[in-house]
Amino acid sequence: MSLRELVVLGTSSAVPTRHRNHNGYLLRWDGQGFLFDPGEGTQRQMLHAGVGAHDITWICVTHFHGDHCLGVPGIVQRIARDGVAHEVQAAYPATGETYWRRLRHASAFADTSVITERPVSGPVTTFEAGPVTLTARPLSHPVESYGYRLDEPDGRRMIPSLLAERGVRGPSIGELQRTGTVTAPDGSVVRLADCSGPRPGQSAAFIMDTRLCEGVFALAEGVDLLVIESTFLSGEEPLASRYGHLTAAQAGRVAAESGVRSLVLTHLSERYDAEDGPRFLEEARRSFDGDVVLAHDLMRVPVPRRDHPDRRARSHVAKASSAS
Ligand SMILES: [Zn+2]
Ligand SMILES: [Zn+2]
Repeated sequence: MSLRELVVLGTSSAVPTRHRNHNGYLLRWDGQGFLFDPGEGTQRQMLHAGVGAHDITWICVTHFHGDHCLGVPGIVQRIARDGVAHEVQAAYPATGETYWRRLRHASAFADTSVITERPVSGPVTTFEAGPVTLTARPLSHPVESYGYRLDEPDGRRMIPSLLAERGVRGPSIGELQRTGTVTAPDGSVVRLADCSGPRPGQSAAFIMDTRLCEGVFALAEGVDLLVIESTFLSGEEPLASRYGHLTAAQAGRVAAESGVRSLVLTHLSERYDAEDGPRFLEEARRSFDGDVVLAHDLMRVPVPRRDHPDRRARSHVAKASSAS
């Protein structure tokens, strides 16, 4: 069984609070682990969450404010100390190279050679990350900030009743998947399309510090799982705009207009406490009728099961109604 889930390591913006660590999120995607924005204390949060350095295959930093990157030294040194042997790729804004070099070599340790730097720049950067594509797009924040998105390619799903009808069974099913055709017991040629249907690829987006901008919507479009900052409630919208952040109401609007299936709100300002949680959900739900959760530390959020065919239709309905 493939495992696709978000492990939330920390959820606070700017400074940690008694209940929220600095940011940190591991997206487990089959055999890979995408560690987004390791803030201060991420190494210890991983311990609490049952995540090891060996689980990390990518480190993706949105920008170089401390709540998104001060955990990099601990993570890098733990990768070295634990003898991680596989390649770990590190994506971050190219303009922050100086910050990256300092964090990467922050103190004395027996270094590792497994980390490969993949700086991002320009309007779109894409990487092949095993079977999935990782895309980075610029956001709008006082320092250069990039959001990320993961896309699995579309595939095909075998339909057991059609396989049985054509007499294709056992190892022949694997051959049909690999080669696209197989000879049935009655001598006829069976094509993949005869016994399968489309299986849309899954996707997830990770959008941290930003105002509403083109990049936000491009990253969120049609994803199964959207992890997005909602630093403020809408009463503080002018403040959010000035400092380059989103409100929970704006995050909900992004999810609705983009046809997102499951929404995770995070990166909360320290001005809010536990009693304010329902207000974040209520604001997001004003426009978004899909699943929405307010992240808390050490929470696990599954990537929703495979797409439902009417998702695109929902997306377009939402767009049409928001335009009116
Ligand atoms: Zn932040
Ligand atoms: Zn920031």
